Amino acid sequence: MPTYEPHLPRTAPQDRPTSPRTPSLKSPTPAPLPTAPLPTAPTPSAPASSRVAKSAAQPEPSPTRRKFVAGTLGAGAAAAGLTALGAGGPLAAPAFGAPLVASGSGRRVAVLGGGMAGLTVAHELAERGFQVTVYERKSLGGKARSIPVAGTGSGGRRDLPGEHGFRFFPGFYLNVPDTMRRIPFPGNPNGVHDNLVDAPEAIFAQAGRPDNKLILPDGGIDSITPEALRAALKTMANVAGQVPWWEIAFWAEKMLVFFTSGELRRRHQWEYMPYSEYLQMDKMSEAYRNILVRSFTSTLVAAKETVASTRTITMMVEIFLWTMLGRGNEGAPDRVLNGPTNEAWIDPWHTLLTSLGVEFRVGWTVTGLDYSGGRITGARMTDPSGNAATIDADHYVLAVPVERAVPLMSPALVAADPALGRLRRLQTDWMNGLMLYLKRKTPITHGHLAFMDSPWAVTGLTQGQFWRNDFAATYGDGSVQDCLSLDLSDWDAPGIVYGRSARQCTPRQIVDEVLAQLRANLDNGAAIVPDSLIHSWFLDPGITGSGTPSVANDEPLLVNTIGSWDDRPEATTRIPNLFLAGDYVRVSINLATMEGANEAGRKAANGVLAAAGSSAPRVTIHEMYQEPALAGFCRADDLRYRLGLPNAFDVLKPYWP
Ligand SMILES: Cc1cc2nc3c(=O)[nH]c(=O)nc-3n(C[C@H](O)[C@H](O)[C@H](O)COP(=O)(O)OP(=O)(O)OC[C@H]3O[C@@H](n4cnc5c(N)ncnc54)[C@H](O)[C@@H]3O)c2cc1C
Repeated sequence: MPTYEPHLPRTAPQDRPTSPRTPSLKSPTPAPLPTAPLPTAPTPSAPASSRVAKSAAQPEPSPTRRKFVAGTLGAGAAAAGLTALGAGGPLAAPAFGAPLVASGSGRRVAVLGGGMAGLTVAHELAERGFQVTVYERKSLGGKARSIPVAGTGSGGRRDLPGEHGFRFFPGFYLNVPDTMRRIPFPGNPNGVHDNLVDAPEAIFAQAGRPDNKLILPDGGIDSITPEALRAALKTMANVAGQVPWWEIAFWAEKMLVFFTSGELRRRHQWEYMPYSEYLQMDKMSEAYRNILVRSFTSTLVAAKETVASTRTITMMVEIFLWTMLGRGNEGAPDRVLNGPTNEAWIDPWHTLLTSLGVEFRVGWTVTGLDYSGGRITGARMTDPSGNAATIDADHYVLAVPVERAVPLMSPALVAADPALGRLRRLQTDWMNGLMLYLKRKTPITHGHLAFMDSPWAVTGLTQGQFWRNDFAATYGDGSVQDCLSLDLSDWDAPGIVYGRSARQCTPRQIVDEVLAQLRANLDNGAAIVPDSLIHSWFLDPGITGSGTPSVANDEPLLVNTIGSWDDRPEATTRIPNLFLAGDYVRVSINLATMEGANEAGRKAANGVLAAAGSSAPRVTIHEMYQEPALAGFCRADDLRYRLGLPNAFDVLKPYWP
């Protein structure tokens, strides 16, 4: 039976029956602190609640990790040795991912980092006969991995599933689904891809307002049902009741301007304009700011509208629109996995890659890159026992997140390729998950929830309804029926219970705050998520020292600030055997996502193929959908941009180049 946190008390402040949807949400005056003592929060200094802190400090006991540890021990001296990359070629040809072409010399590849980008590189190169070893400091899957809550499973059940943040697979992703189709999964004709299930509803909840519900068409306009139409009209009426019509017209016009902007204007004008400025946020109503601006920045992608690039964010608005209309889609507009990410995706991927001969070294941290004679000559590592080692390979793919790549960029590397020095200009922000384990199945809606007036930009979904296995029978001690997985995308804004930011709150205060914000936004929120529903909770263990001055986030997320494209690197570098893979690399989706990381991994793999002189077919790169019907407008706009003119539709406060 998990004891990592007791049930929330019925007297907790967020359970007060007083109007949970009061506009006080926006009030600068914080709500009074609770008088009832709160249960002990699992701060790192509190041994009684060490389970959360322990998870952060120790390797995560995912099945992937367990399998790997066994493999590593077996590898023994070879793993601890200094140079050998796995010599094993592909094993018996699997049904999926059969090796394509084995190339000649220069086939040893060290992939440094085992997240989405690193696994993609390993997959593509192993299929092409390269000898790949993945070195990962923590756990395979990176930010996309599951984080089981150690010690919570009993009676033959698995540990409760936690995660860094819930996973959302929009219909416009093309690279990730292609990879998924190539990973076998028992009983699935299309491999892991068949583990994606539609999430056809979405609620955009607002404090003091009826929920805005959308039913997403899964096959474009033709698939819009009367029910979906009614929900859309109701939501539009609700928005129109709050945002003045001329502000809506301004927003719509600026969207049209962007959609018809040519590549030149997008790249050279919109890239450098903050999203808030493009939409004139300062001059508009609070409702405009919350609904039409922030819903796509803080709520969706942890971006701050004042620093986020217009090009990045408006491109997301655009692609979501096409997805809703069924244009360029690979699948339904919103999809999720039918189980924890490791079970549904990462573990089968690991199995496939192992069968292709990829070797995994989990617990290995790259600490430096040796450079001599114009090439990388070795990667300095710390092994799981803390010993220093140097590994060598023919090609090195650095697939760590940008904030981990920066310290590796020595003066010699920067001198060889100045783009590597510009990585330090890229910025990250915090976006992390909180899991609420529930005693009853609680399908609030069959899809995602966005709490639009929550200062901490909270989004979430209840997962049990999508999962193939019965939750209580599969996980925990049998008393947990569901999991409300939440992402917190603003860790700086003051909350409504304690008046403190998420960074300043203890984990337990974070739970109180999130519950209060959720209840304040959701129609009938206090009744839908009462205290009696909450079994326990789990905060991303990447957050440490919460509520203390030394609060830290081990895994922040890249944010696309204005002009950051200039500082983002290509997957190939000027060092012929060094490649970069990660969500910060220049790719067509232009947003830190699994899709971006996958596309970057594909580009890095192609770089290796070229450098090795391989004759293997190049990896297909799927670029973001562009609507052909607008191509003529976009071409014409390129000309207008060259002539120094605003976009032809830019008539309300036009922006000149
Ligand atoms: C809360 C949250 C929710 C998200 N939700 C979604 C979503 O719904 N859909 C979506 O598409 N994207 C989502 N994203 C974004 C997505 O998860 C990331 O962009 C993507 O997973 C990044 O993959 P990556 O391989 O570039 O980096 P990472 O996932 O960070 O992988 C890098 C790996 O390198 C390892 N590493 C770090 N340093 C070292 C070192 N020195 N030596 C060896 N290994 C090292 C890390 O442990 C990690 O495993 C979300 C992000 C967050 C934070």
